Amino acid sequence: MKSRSKKSFVYLFLAVGLGILACYTIAAEKGQKKQEEILPKKHTKKITMDDTKWKEKLTPEQYRILRKAGTERPFGEVYSTFKKQGLGKYVCAGCDTELFSSNEKFDSKCGWPSFYDPSKAKNVKTSVDYHLGYPRTEVLCAVCDGHLGHVFTGEGFDTPTDKRYCINGTVLKFIPAESADSEEKPKKPVSPGK
Ligand SMILES: [Zn+2]
Repeated sequence: MKSRSKKSFVYLFLAVGLGILACYTIAAEKGQKKQEEILPKKHTKKITMDDTKWKEKLTPEQYRILRKAGTERPFGEVYSTFKKQGLGKYVCAGCDTELFSSNEKFDSKCGWPSFYDPSKAKNVKTSVDYHLGYPRTEVLCAVCDGHLGHVFTGEGFDTPTDKRYCINGTVLKFIPAESADSEEKPKKPVSPGK
Protein backbone atom coordinates (compact mmCIF):
# COMPACT_ATOMS: atom_id res chain seq x y z
CA MET A 1 0.00 0.00 0.00
CA LYS A 2 2.79 2.34 0.96
CA SER A 3 4.77 1.64 -2.23
CA ARG A 4 1.62 2.16 -4.33
CA SER A 5 1.06 5.65 -2.99
CA LYS A 6 4.74 6.38 -3.54
CA LYS A 7 4.33 5.27 -7.17
CA SER A 8 1.30 7.48 -7.74
CA PHE A 9 3.17 10.36 -6.19
CA VAL A 10 6.00 9.83 -8.72
CA TYR A 11 3.49 9.74 -11.60
CA LEU A 12 1.87 12.93 -10.36
CA PHE A 13 5.25 14.59 -10.08
CA LEU A 14 6.14 13.54 -13.64
CA ALA A 15 2.83 14.78 -15.03
CA VAL A 16 3.19 18.19 -13.38
CA GLY A 17 6.76 18.43 -14.64
CA LEU A 18 5.75 17.62 -18.20
CA GLY A 19 2.93 20.16 -18.01
CA ILE A 20 5.31 22.93 -16.93
CA LEU A 21 7.74 21.97 -19.68
CA ALA A 22 4.98 22.11 -22.31
CA CYS A 23 3.91 25.57 -21.11
CA TYR A 24 7.47 26.84 -21.33
CA THR A 25 7.87 25.45 -24.87
CA ILE A 26 4.66 27.11 -26.08
CA ALA A 27 5.63 30.43 -24.49
CA ALA A 28 9.10 30.28 -26.04
CA GLU A 29 7.64 29.57 -29.50
CA LYS A 30 5.23 32.47 -29.16
CA GLY A 31 8.09 34.77 -28.20
CA GLN A 32 10.09 33.69 -31.21
CA LYS A 33 7.20 34.34 -33.58
CA LYS A 34 6.83 37.83 -32.16
CA GLN A 35 10.52 38.52 -32.74
CA GLU A 36 10.47 37.41 -36.36
CA GLU A 37 8.19 40.26 -37.38
CA ILE A 38 7.61 40.00 -41.10
CA LEU A 39 8.30 43.17 -43.10
CA PRO A 40 7.00 44.75 -45.29
CA LYS A 41 3.57 44.80 -43.71
CA LYS A 42 0.46 44.49 -45.82
CA HIS A 43 -2.16 46.81 -44.44
CA THR A 44 -5.69 46.49 -45.70
CA LYS A 45 -6.90 49.61 -43.90
CA LYS A 46 -5.53 53.13 -43.65
CA ILE A 47 -3.53 53.88 -40.54
CA THR A 48 -4.57 56.86 -38.47
CA MET A 49 -2.99 57.81 -35.16
CA ASP A 50 -3.05 60.98 -33.12
CA ASP A 51 0.01 63.19 -32.92
CA THR A 52 1.10 61.90 -29.51
CA LYS A 53 1.21 58.31 -30.80
CA TRP A 54 3.21 59.35 -33.89
CA LYS A 55 5.70 61.18 -31.68
CA GLU A 56 6.15 58.01 -29.60
CA LYS A 57 6.62 55.80 -32.66
CA LEU A 58 8.92 58.01 -34.73
CA THR A 59 12.26 59.71 -34.13
CA PRO A 60 11.97 63.55 -33.94
CA GLU A 61 13.45 63.81 -37.48
CA GLN A 62 11.09 61.17 -38.89
CA TYR A 63 8.16 62.93 -37.21
CA ARG A 64 9.20 66.32 -38.63
CA ILE A 65 9.35 64.90 -42.17
CA LEU A 66 6.50 62.37 -42.20
CA ARG A 67 3.93 64.25 -40.17
CA LYS A 68 4.96 67.88 -40.75
CA ALA A 69 6.08 67.68 -44.42
CA GLY A 70 9.70 68.45 -43.52
CA THR A 71 12.80 67.86 -45.64
CA GLU A 72 16.06 66.25 -44.59
CA ARG A 73 19.43 67.88 -45.21
CA PRO A 74 20.69 66.91 -48.70
CA PHE A 75 23.96 64.97 -49.13
CA GLY A 76 23.78 63.90 -45.47
CA GLU A 77 24.56 60.59 -43.80
CA VAL A 78 21.21 59.14 -44.85
CA TYR A 79 22.03 59.82 -48.51
CA SER A 80 25.48 58.23 -48.38
CA THR A 81 24.03 55.17 -46.62
CA PHE A 82 21.31 54.97 -49.28
CA LYS A 83 23.88 55.04 -52.08
CA LYS A 84 25.72 52.08 -50.55
CA GLN A 85 22.62 49.91 -50.11
CA GLY A 86 22.30 46.95 -52.48
CA LEU A 87 19.24 44.96 -53.50
CA GLY A 88 16.18 45.26 -51.31
CA LYS A 89 12.94 46.99 -50.49
CA TYR A 90 12.17 50.33 -48.92
CA VAL A 91 9.25 50.47 -46.51
CA CYS A 92 7.56 53.44 -44.83
CA ALA A 93 9.07 54.29 -41.43
CA GLY A 94 5.58 55.16 -40.22
CA CYS A 95 3.70 51.98 -41.14
CA ASP A 96 6.17 49.46 -42.68
CA THR A 97 4.32 49.38 -46.00
CA GLU A 98 6.45 48.70 -49.09
CA LEU A 99 6.88 51.85 -51.19
CA PHE A 100 10.04 51.57 -53.27
CA SER A 101 12.69 49.01 -54.16
CA SER A 102 16.28 48.94 -55.37
CA ASN A 103 14.99 48.04 -58.88
CA GLU A 104 13.72 51.60 -59.44
CA LYS A 105 16.55 53.35 -57.60
CA PHE A 106 18.86 55.61 -59.61
CA ASP A 107 21.58 58.14 -58.93
CA SER A 108 20.23 61.59 -59.75
CA LYS A 109 23.08 63.25 -57.80
CA CYS A 110 20.50 65.57 -56.20
CA GLY A 111 21.43 64.74 -52.61
CA TRP A 112 18.27 62.80 -51.78
CA PRO A 113 17.34 59.17 -52.51
CA SER A 114 15.84 58.98 -56.02
CA PHE A 115 13.57 56.44 -57.68
CA TYR A 116 12.00 56.56 -61.12
CA ASP A 117 8.84 54.78 -59.90
CA PRO A 118 7.37 53.27 -56.75
CA SER A 119 7.65 49.48 -56.47
CA LYS A 120 4.05 49.27 -55.17
CA ALA A 121 2.15 52.04 -56.96
CA LYS A 122 -1.01 51.59 -54.89
CA ASN A 123 0.90 52.39 -51.68
CA VAL A 124 2.12 55.76 -52.94
CA LYS A 125 -0.13 58.74 -53.63
CA THR A 126 0.48 62.32 -54.72
CA SER A 127 -1.01 65.74 -54.10
CA VAL A 128 -0.08 69.29 -55.10
CA ASP A 129 1.59 71.55 -52.56
CA TYR A 130 2.41 75.27 -52.74
CA HIS A 131 4.84 75.45 -49.81
CA LEU A 132 7.48 77.19 -51.93
CA GLY A 133 5.01 79.47 -53.71
CA TYR A 134 4.76 77.34 -56.85
CA PRO A 135 3.07 74.01 -57.41
CA ARG A 136 5.03 70.86 -56.63
CA THR A 137 3.79 67.29 -56.59
CA GLU A 138 4.03 65.95 -53.07
CA VAL A 139 4.56 62.20 -52.58
CA LEU A 140 2.79 60.54 -49.65
CA CYS A 141 2.39 57.07 -48.20
CA ALA A 142 -1.15 56.01 -49.13
CA VAL A 143 -1.54 53.91 -45.98
CA CYS A 144 -0.52 56.36 -43.20
CA ASP A 145 -0.64 59.65 -45.19
CA GLY A 146 2.98 60.34 -44.25
CA HIS A 147 4.92 62.90 -46.29
CA LEU A 148 7.76 61.23 -48.22
CA GLY A 149 9.04 63.90 -50.62
CA HIS A 150 8.20 65.19 -54.11
CA VAL A 151 8.11 63.86 -57.66
CA PHE A 152 9.50 65.81 -60.60
CA THR A 153 8.97 64.99 -64.27
CA GLY A 154 10.66 65.85 -67.55
CA GLU A 155 14.14 66.46 -66.16
CA GLY A 156 15.73 64.36 -68.89
CA PHE A 157 17.09 61.52 -66.77
CA ASP A 158 17.80 58.39 -68.74
CA THR A 159 15.25 56.29 -66.86
CA PRO A 160 12.14 54.42 -68.09
CA THR A 161 9.70 57.04 -66.73
CA ASP A 162 11.57 60.40 -66.84
CA LYS A 163 10.28 60.89 -63.29
CA ARG A 164 12.34 61.58 -60.19
CA TYR A 165 10.77 60.58 -56.92
CA CYS A 166 12.89 62.71 -54.61
CA ILE A 167 12.40 60.99 -51.26
CA ASN A 168 13.63 61.70 -47.74
CA GLY A 169 15.72 58.66 -46.82
CA THR A 170 15.01 59.30 -43.12
CA VAL A 171 11.44 58.07 -43.55
CA LEU A 172 12.36 54.89 -45.42
CA LYS A 173 13.41 51.64 -43.79
CA PHE A 174 15.62 49.42 -45.93
CA ILE A 175 15.05 45.67 -45.99
CA PRO A 176 17.94 43.88 -47.74
CA ALA A 177 16.84 41.34 -50.38
CA GLU A 178 17.93 38.27 -48.41
CA SER A 179 15.56 39.10 -45.52
CA ALA A 180 12.72 40.60 -47.58
CA ASP A 181 9.87 38.27 -48.46
CA SER A 182 10.59 36.69 -51.80
CA GLU A 183 7.10 36.64 -53.26
CA GLU A 184 8.38 37.46 -56.73
CA LYS A 185 11.02 34.76 -56.69
CA PRO A 186 10.11 31.13 -56.21
CA LYS A 187 11.48 29.74 -52.97
CA LYS A 188 14.39 27.34 -53.20
CA PRO A 189 13.22 23.79 -52.65
CA VAL A 190 14.25 22.41 -49.28
CA SER A 191 16.44 19.36 -49.66
CA PRO A 192 14.85 16.30 -48.07
CA GLY A 193 16.19 15.02 -44.79
CA LYS A 194 16.97 18.48 -43.46
ZN1 LIG B 1 3.21 54.84 -44.21
